[in-house]
Amino acid sequence: MRNDQTNLHDLPPAELESIVGAVVSPPFRVKQIEEWTHVRGAASFDAMTNLPKDLRADLAARFSVAFPDVVERTEPASDGSQKYLFVLDDGNRIESVYMPMGERTSICLSSQAGCAVGCTFCVTGFFGAGRNLTPGEMLGQFFTIQREHGVPMERMNVVFMGMGEPLLNMEHLETTLDVLYRNVAPKRITVSTSGIIPGIDELAQLDRRPNLAISINAPDRKRREEIMPITKKYPLEELIASLKRYPTEHGREITVEYVLLAGYNDAASDAAALARLIRGLRAKVNAIPFNADPNLPGWMKRPTDAAIDRFVDTLVKNGVAVTVRRSKGREIAAACGQLRGKKEAPRHRRAT
Ligand code: SF4
Repeated sequence: MRNDQTNLHDLPPAELESIVGAVVSPPFRVKQIEEWTHVRGAASFDAMTNLPKDLRADLAARFSVAFPDVVERTEPASDGSQKYLFVLDDGNRIESVYMPMGERTSICLSSQAGCAVGCTFCVTGFFGAGRNLTPGEMLGQFFTIQREHGVPMERMNVVFMGMGEPLLNMEHLETTLDVLYRNVAPKRITVSTSGIIPGIDELAQLDRRPNLAISINAPDRKRREEIMPITKKYPLEELIASLKRYPTEHGREITVEYVLLAGYNDAASDAAALARLIRGLRAKVNAIPFNADPNLPGWMKRPTDAAIDRFVDTLVKNGVAVTVRRSKGREIAAACGQLRGKKEAPRHRRAT
């Protein structure tokens, strides 16, 4: 592949048809190429077997259909989940996770190679900012893992909860969603944000919207600003107001993610305060016991099971639906950035 070639996986469907249609005819061939690219996730023109050979060669001379390469995959954990490390053209490394969940399968995608948001409990944030991923780099994670495990598309869920803040990569995220919708319904796709209010409002305007997950992690502004510096720019009260504006039609709910840190935000009083904070939202809480990592502050610890139970029970007593991510991925260090973090020296080290 030449660097100046357009990667067809980076284009939204209409733009692909327009660019390819300018050099390929008749129109049904353009449709075939679009389908091979966006629906079947072809990673080479040779894979497009119903196209004439000379057309495939011509396409390869003009364009590419490139995906990032897998450089490492962990052994499957006891629950079947498996983590992937991909290398990008510029040497950046990103992570994705395959998570079988009974009838359905989720793939967790990265949206940036690094993250400028800097949540203090997150290894990706610890390693600092990186660049936005292209649509082809996001779609490559999806198609590579889906194909490797042979998961039927109708069983797929997609979550943007890997490395990076997807709403700081809005343009490429929207293209990626448009392509994913060819195979996966919007209600099966979840975008997780640290609380970028302009991005939430932009997502809310889309005709076809993914589900929204919001990383809250503290029931009050002071503690949220301590562990999530971005909150100073997008305060908690304004964030809750933006969530109330996000359409939750057809029984859809917002997922409130809450990383539980022992002795910091895991008290019953914190659960009661969280319930008050999200009152009026159509939301469920996903409690995520902290995953310890040598790159993160030593005071951050996973709560005991008793503390987790107390937190959950208090939410339930206050009328909040709650799930707990108890084990999935613990064995494979599934919190974002942890696999890459084992391989690289950090660009900065926080004092906290
Ligand atoms: S938790 Fe998400 S938003 Fe926060 S630093 Fe990590 S990747 Fe970025």
